[in-house]
Amino acid sequence: MNPFEKENRSLKRTLHVLISKAERNQDILRTFQDIELRLLSCNRLTDLLDMLLINLKEYFRLDAISLILFDPEQTARGLIEDYTPPDNGQHLDFTENYQALKDLYPKGDYPLLLNPNEEVKTFAFPDRQHIMSCALLPLVRQGIIIGSLHLGSSDSQRYNKNVATDYIQHLASVISVCIENCVSQETLRRLSIIDMLTKVNNRRSFDQELLRELSRANRNQYPLSCLFIDLDYFKRINDTYGHQTGDRVLNQAAQAIKKQLRKTDFIARYGGEEFAVLLPACLNNRAVQVAEAIRTRLRSITFRSDEDEAFKVTLSVGVATCEPIGSPEENLVNSAHQLVACADKAVYQAKSLGRDRVIYMPINHIKPQKQPDMDASLLALTPNHSH
Ligand code: GH3
Ligand code: MG
Ligand code: MG
Repeated sequence: MNPFEKENRSLKRTLHVLISKAERNQDILRTFQDIELRLLSCNRLTDLLDMLLINLKEYFRLDAISLILFDPEQTARGLIEDYTPPDNGQHLDFTENYQALKDLYPKGDYPLLLNPNEEVKTFAFPDRQHIMSCALLPLVRQGIIIGSLHLGSSDSQRYNKNVATDYIQHLASVISVCIENCVSQETLRRLSIIDMLTKVNNRRSFDQELLRELSRANRNQYPLSCLFIDLDYFKRINDTYGHQTGDRVLNQAAQAIKKQLRKTDFIARYGGEEFAVLLPACLNNRAVQVAEAIRTRLRSITFRSDEDEAFKVTLSVGVATCEPIGSPEENLVNSAHQLVACADKAVYQAKSLGRDRVIYMPINHIKPQKQPDMDASLLALTPNHSH
């Protein structure tokens, strides 16, 4: 082989190695951009948490990932009550202890790459003791640490001090913005639909949900039941035990009602001491059973005043059911009015008959469509109905 051929062969080999390296870098960059876009597109806090705990772990092929959020007023916790974090090497926690977060980053708010000692392991990876190297990312907004993200590997060489931290520092900034954004967006959304005293939905969201549910019931040809619940002689409770005790009763009553419902049911505080409930795919006889369960449950509670006096509260329930109507969407508003008016009339009747009772009132002018098969098809729709 002449010297030119030899040199050419060597140059080709070098070129091949360089091209492969460039392609690999390109892939990594694309992955990073993809991660960022997906993080930025999360609107819900639960989606963002899934993205951080599940997807990041997969993207970076980590052995463990954990996130601790600084949550002194339990705001984030309040927003994700129903969220169950994944548990395969993923850990989510909240802290009110700002100093503990600050102590993790003694040299300032920069990412740390290290082989964790026992103390760091216990803090950052409480259920993964085999982590040999890790990246600890402070999540900072306006000079405040809002959380800490920990990437863990069982390879002791994976995160060492020679690895560049530019990208993870950038990633930490993006994640911080995303968390702050999701928390404030969801807090705002909550404030507009939640009743602050009882933390159930407010009247405004009930009106919206009613139309949504009627439309769904129409599409799927199932009935929609509505309960109007009014606490009996509530004014007396305020007058006897004070407004604060009254507020507490309202709150406890809301939680007691909620406990008798399925996840797909909808409860709202309709007015002062009135609650409204929507029961999708629920026929009138079952709706009456739910109402009875609520009435019995409330009767069984012993309430306590600020002065620790024990007392009982009863309630009256009006039940109405809208059978599937197959009517065009523009008639939904009409149906909504009828359903609410009927449930309201029923509760009024319950009051005049002596209170502490459930009254069902049929909506006569809405024609049922598939009456004979309804029970069987509903049972198929709701296999786990517990009422
Ligand atoms: P009925 O059995 O006929 O329903 O009698 P009632 O006393 O429950 O009904 P009424 O409509 O006369 O009184 C409702 C009371 O509910 C009056 C009002 O002060 C009280 N209320 C309304 N909103 C709140 C609230 O947010 N907190 C407290 N503590 N009381 C409230
Ligand atoms: Mg009332
Ligand atoms: Mg009342």
